[in-house]
Amino acid sequence: MGSPLDRSATWPYEDGEPGRFSYARADHPTGVACEEALGELDGGHALLYPSGMGAVTTVVLTMLRPGGTIALAEGAYYGHRVLFDHLAPWGVNVVEFDQTGAPPDDADLILIEAPANPLLTMPDLEAAVAHPSPVVCDATIATPLRLRPLDHGCDVVLHSATKVLAGHDDVLAGATVTGDEELRDRLHTTRRLAGIVAPPDTAWLVRRGLGTLDVRLARQEASARMLAERLAAHPAVETVRYPGLSFLVSFDVADGEAAGRVERAVGTIENATSLGGTRSKLEARHRWEGDRIPAGLLRLSVGLEDPDVLWADLEQALS
Ligand code: PLP
Repeated sequence: MGSPLDRSATWPYEDGEPGRFSYARADHPTGVACEEALGELDGGHALLYPSGMGAVTTVVLTMLRPGGTIALAEGAYYGHRVLFDHLAPWGVNVVEFDQTGAPPDDADLILIEAPANPLLTMPDLEAAVAHPSPVVCDATIATPLRLRPLDHGCDVVLHSATKVLAGHDDVLAGATVTGDEELRDRLHTTRRLAGIVAPPDTAWLVRRGLGTLDVRLARQEASARMLAERLAAHPAVETVRYPGLSFLVSFDVADGEAAGRVERAVGTIENATSLGGTRSKLEARHRWEGDRIPAGLLRLSVGLEDPDVLWADLEQALS
């Protein structure tokens, strides 16, 4: 990519005054280069954070007042719900809603997910943006190559860049993108004051990942579609969820015990958490999410391996 990695924490003043870069908690050149690349993909102003959760925390601190209510998509990333419950003593309230319809009237901030992880519903974007409150869309799984929520009227796009944007399971990162410059400045102020800023190495790895995102996503998506079809025809599989885009599939086997057997039997596919990387991963989500999802639900993140090898691995694990 030819982009330099500058690990400096400070830069000399110019003519006795701070220049564009002076202290890395505000901005650093490696971060800004990555933000420009991501901003172009999503059609807005991007900011990087040291994790997806750092990004959503910055959004809540900036966009919600104490006593306000977040309407969170049901079946969305469970960490969002856990974080909002943890912030209850600071006056954060949360209600969950079915994102295939309209958000509740009394919501002050709306968080939808495209598609929801791991139930893989897609939000009704038109119904969400018709609500008077700001709409944040977590598009970690869709990526800007499959959905640009700002084009649909959303206020902020959220990414766990840890996942397919960086794509190699070797960095933790998050991002927000907004078309509203004033909102971008408010998010930036929170990020700077709270120090929720991604380090230069992180930014460099995310930017490198963006350079191969289209080819990785195309292959991972084609394999995911094929595996979803084959899973749907397998007698041990009760339900398959695939939203028709991107690399994530979830499917149900009979119960928690059956899911555990599949976890222990996969070989090429790694039994591990997370998603979006080059190597396929599968895990039973019930251990983390409890009864909000079926006990036999397995989440499969499809990587870059030969899809026939992946199917052979799934088939032997399911039998
Ligand atoms: N959003 C989604 C859809 C996720 O799947 C995750 C993590 O799994 C996050 C946000 C949180 O991101 P991070 O783990 O980078 O903090």
